[in-house]
Amino acid sequence: MKKQPLDRRSFLLKASSTAGVAAIGHTLPSPVSALGHDTKGTGYVYDALYEEHVIDDGHPESPDRLEEIRLSMKASGLNAKVTPSAPIEDPFPFIRRIHTQNHIDQVDQIPTTGAVAKQAVAGVLGAVKAVSEGEVRNAFCAIRPPGHHAHNSGREEGFCYYANVAVAARYAQLLGHAKILIIDWDYHHGNGTQDAFYNDGSVLFFSTHDSSAYPGTGDENYTGEGEGAGLNINVHLPCGATDADMIAAWDQMLIPAARAFGPDFILISAGFDSRQNDTLGCFDLTDWCFAEMTRKAMALADEFCEGRIVSALEGGYNVTGLASAVVNHVGTLLNHEVDIEWARTRYRAYNKAGMRDGLLHLPGVSWQNVDEVLVHDAAGRRVTRIPRRQIRGPIIDLRKRSMSPGLYITTVAYRGQSPQRYRYHVAQ
Ligand SMILES: [Zn+2]
Repeated sequence: MKKQPLDRRSFLLKASSTAGVAAIGHTLPSPVSALGHDTKGTGYVYDALYEEHVIDDGHPESPDRLEEIRLSMKASGLNAKVTPSAPIEDPFPFIRRIHTQNHIDQVDQIPTTGAVAKQAVAGVLGAVKAVSEGEVRNAFCAIRPPGHHAHNSGREEGFCYYANVAVAARYAQLLGHAKILIIDWDYHHGNGTQDAFYNDGSVLFFSTHDSSAYPGTGDENYTGEGEGAGLNINVHLPCGATDADMIAAWDQMLIPAARAFGPDFILISAGFDSRQNDTLGCFDLTDWCFAEMTRKAMALADEFCEGRIVSALEGGYNVTGLASAVVNHVGTLLNHEVDIEWARTRYRAYNKAGMRDGLLHLPGVSWQNVDEVLVHDAAGRRVTRIPRRQIRGPIIDLRKRSMSPGLYITTVAYRGQSPQRYRYHVAQ
């Protein structure tokens, strides 16, 4: 029997019920069930190299973002269902279609970052190739650094170096897909993408964002010029924007424009800083909204371009929120309905010892062997110490330890065993 997709109300009710820690170890039903679509599957781009790039210690665009996505993909079971996608060999000929040689030379010489930025583009182009050749129906790229603010300044702009999605649009065209729809749901305006195609009649760019935030662009009066006239759609949403606001923008602006345009390929600049509780964004979108936007994009892709969608990560800085939204997005691309609460519970059960939502979970059998728990901030300063005599069970509540927003390292020292470390991010 097919599982019916949840409507919004029942999804929210479901999402708000807390499974709680008592569920650890319980046998639970499968989190995913196929909706019965004929599908060639979903490609997935990830490379451990993407976690090597660091802007600064404590910078919000941190490797923890991808690490959390990696763990959640595993915990939800989705990583076993996606098809790993290989990067293309040399992305530079395609990067040159968007960026100047001077910009490329400057970025490429930044130690580590230059190589990671290049590999991010190579990953996205590999996904475009796999979708174009019909190896997979669609794909998600868990990449860093992001790209939609990149121009030709020879340096980082808004955490971006190369315009991953803009380069992917040009690459898709070289592979024979003439008309490209780019959907940007990041909290910030995709100014790099807008500027790359502002006069271009072959790319429809649709961006929802808060135009009062960085980079200050995204005014709705900027609609494109020349052959691109009418093909640049900016939608400003205010702080606090809800699922209903976002879906209205899609239904009233994007869907009619996309139908009139008739895309041959759809690219998504998938930024999740538009999700509720982000540390940089102030929208109030739930995981349901990302799944619903994904469904709507898939319906467009089914109607016009045999399901071809490549989605590439942009922002999203509350690492647990980011990972949760990504699981919903990828689960939907796979045509699976994802039960996030199950995924969270499963995460705890899978991870046994781990740090989730301020609770340190220790394995049921060995918490008695813990000598002490130490929490340090990202700069190495000790925030708190919990001695052995205060550890009376497998769950240690660190939520009331007055930790300001940021990254923390929790070290669990066991008797006769090597210590274990967990990273924990406190959101604003
Ligand atoms: Zn952003």
